[in-house]
Amino acid sequence: MQDEVARCLALLAREIEAHRGDPRARRVTPAISSREMRRQIENRYGDLSRGRPLRELTAEMIRLLREWNVQITHPRYFGLFNPSVKPASVVADALVSLFNPNLAARAAAEGACVLERFTLERFLGLLGFPVETSEASFTSGGAEANHQAVLTAMAHRFPRAIEEGVGALDRRPVLYVSADAHGSMAKAAQASGLGSRAVRRVPLDGRRRMDPEALGRLVSADRAAGLEPFLVAATAGTTAAGAVDPLEAVAIVAAREGLWLHVDAAYGGIALLSRRLKPLLSGIEQADSVTWDAHKTLSLALGAGMFFSRHREAVARAFGIEAGYMPRSAEGEEDPYATTLQWSRRFLGLRVFMTLAAEGTSGLAEDADRVAALGHELRARLTQAGFTLLNDSELPVVCFTHPRIDAGEVRGLDILDRVLRSGRAWISHVSLSGRFALRACVTSYLANEADLDCLVEEVRAALNGVGRE
Ligand SMILES: *Cc1c(COP(=O)(O)O)cnc(C)c1O
Repeated sequence: MQDEVARCLALLAREIEAHRGDPRARRVTPAISSREMRRQIENRYGDLSRGRPLRELTAEMIRLLREWNVQITHPRYFGLFNPSVKPASVVADALVSLFNPNLAARAAAEGACVLERFTLERFLGLLGFPVETSEASFTSGGAEANHQAVLTAMAHRFPRAIEEGVGALDRRPVLYVSADAHGSMAKAAQASGLGSRAVRRVPLDGRRRMDPEALGRLVSADRAAGLEPFLVAATAGTTAAGAVDPLEAVAIVAAREGLWLHVDAAYGGIALLSRRLKPLLSGIEQADSVTWDAHKTLSLALGAGMFFSRHREAVARAFGIEAGYMPRSAEGEEDPYATTLQWSRRFLGLRVFMTLAAEGTSGLAEDADRVAALGHELRARLTQAGFTLLNDSELPVVCFTHPRIDAGEVRGLDILDRVLRSGRAWISHVSLSGRFALRACVTSYLANEADLDCLVEEVRAALNGVGRE
């Protein structure tokens, strides 16, 4: 049995090496249909009544992971905000699975809780929040952090609703996001009893950022109509175009109108690590709460979002609960199950701590700067190749089209299809105020200029190929 485990670990080690070695030798996209995948799985595992050797299983699952999914850790995955993963994160996750601490209650996982708090305080420092008195937690991702933000703001502003429900309020609460905000804000409104109609979409300025004057006008109009504005969520790094809402100007409106200011920096938070990019987020230190996804830009595995709030009492009100069966923590110490949405809690912070400690903040800042610079390089190459840029973010999200797409000569989606089928790169598409755009985001710390050349070449080849069909 011990040999069997050792052999599995050897396979694992080999795979980790392969990821560091030459990931470019592999396709980015799978070349097999989901029907065929299902057929193979039925064939192989239709009978699960008896166990099988772990080593064999490991080898087969490595093949599944390598060949049946889009390889988001590939340097030419220019996709949504999914990074290549550093080895420290992989090691951290293996250790967490092995020891399996449950961080619901401090008393049963004191060391893990202390290390998580230590780690989160580093991020609080970067945000400019009061480190001693602010609340912070790891979440499964940005969506859960945004949900916590909405619930915390409600607990702060409408304490009565925590006991009596939203229906007990005299006026209907409404919140504000930009037209390009992430869908998880609306989902949080749906799931918290506010309703999706409570989400007001503020128009964008010419750079796809929330227009703070339009925000002020919407708030006044809603108030006059008998509604209760309570929260504005600015986005730092939109998913569509990498835009950063003007945080300082939004903060002024929030202060004037008495709104809770949430900043969704799920993606853009990374700017705080880089001396060059940091000014982009100036104003974030005034927020009441912040979302920042470690798993989007810190080159670590999925499942590590972060939530920060300077209002500890509101967090306690939103999530506080009595449970006689939980281990008791020391006087004055809050347990994670009573300050967050989750109950049983995986040690999510270890992969963040280990990546941070292994790379150092300077290493991660260098990655951030290099990836941002590649974004500018990609813009230059696309322009040179005759494409039209549709956004101008400092963050490496590049939205583009081509005069022949605009003229209706070729369909943008056909070009996208061809690029994906080539297996040489992955990009996506996005609708910018109704206009079709191809979207390429540099997400991997492994990406280099040759990868950009390859991408531009593939998109050009697709454009010409589609034209000839
Ligand atoms: C990705 C993203 C989210 C959602 O985060 P998950 O980690 O996917 O749950 C929220 N807001 C923004 C701006 C995002 O880019």
